[in-house]
Amino acid sequence: MSIDAFSPTPPDWTQSAVHARQFCCPSCGAASGDAIAAWINRRAPVYTENHSRKWQEFYACKCEAVWWAWSADRPPSPFAQDSDDDDDEDETNSHP
Ligand SMILES: [Zn+2]
Repeated sequence: MSIDAFSPTPPDWTQSAVHARQFCCPSCGAASGDAIAAWINRRAPVYTENHSRKWQEFYACKCEAVWWAWSADRPPSPFAQDSDDDDDEDETNSHP
């Protein structure tokens, strides 16, 4: 399977997504990092009251649930509770 999270067109599976109140699977509670596929709707950003942008982030969970949540609602360290060596606050995107 090859899913491009930044594809300009939404994958078919995003059509059945439900809005997750929290940034995790509303069905089983799995984190976004456990999803088997992801797609970010970067073509339709929404401007918040703080003049920052947020996007819909779609995730296909391993439990077959499909959900989405706002990028602005993503917790800063979604994997902190799953990792034993996360105390260095290493950001995945911080490397050039
Ligand atoms: Zn799930």
